[in-house]
Amino acid sequence: LSSTAERVAKNESLFREVNERIRELAEHFDLATGEPTSFVCECSRTGCHEPVELTLAEYAAVRESDRQFVVQPGHVEPGYERVVFESGRYAVVEKLGKAGRVSEDLG
Ligand SMILES: [Zn+2]
Repeated sequence: LSSTAERVAKNESLFREVNERIRELAEHFDLATGEPTSFVCECSRTGCHEPVELTLAEYAAVRESDRQFVVQPGHVEPGYERVVFESGRYAVVEKLGKAGRVSEDLG
């Protein structure tokens, strides 16, 4: 496993854990009104903490696959992931190859 693929997958999985807490809080406080909630960008860029706006339903759709991550549009790591969905607010990327397998192990 190349160190870059591992770094990409682990970094994004860390932010996935952060976003899972955000979802729990949003659900706990009954914020599931259909309005977007501020999640954090799950991209692999060092120091990126940009917010990404998704409704809880949109976020749940991303989480259906352990290989999928939500990022700011354009925050894509070519060669390790491909864009499976993109809107003006966010993009959904799917891990490819080794990075995808690490993501599934961590998921
Ligand atoms: Zn980012």
